[in-house]
Amino acid sequence: MNSPDRNAKMERRRLFHGLCPRCGIPWNGPTRECTTCLRKRSEVARQRVDKRLAAGLCRDCGQRPLMRGYQRCKACNDQSNKRLAAYARRKAETPGKR
Ligand SMILES: [Zn+2]
Ligand SMILES: [Zn+2]
Repeated sequence: MNSPDRNAKMERRRLFHGLCPRCGIPWNGPTRECTTCLRKRSEVARQRVDKRLAAGLCRDCGQRPLMRGYQRCKACNDQSNKRLAAYARRKAETPGKR
């Protein structure tokens, strides 16, 4: 049995005891998971992206073929442009605090 509910419960218990929710080692850093888990996670993400790109698939969804000269499909590229535009707008509206 490996229900997500049980995992969530275990994660909460680990967090409560000051442990990394993923691997369970004592962890008290500024991030939720320990540095080992964070590194492993980004490593896995990078490998997935590499595999997708090598197969000529969009790095975001891994479903649709790449647009020529891009690392994403048309839909994901539009999405990402929209996100960037929204982010730039938000940044322009908020006066920078120093
Ligand atoms: Zn960990
Ligand atoms: Zn895509």
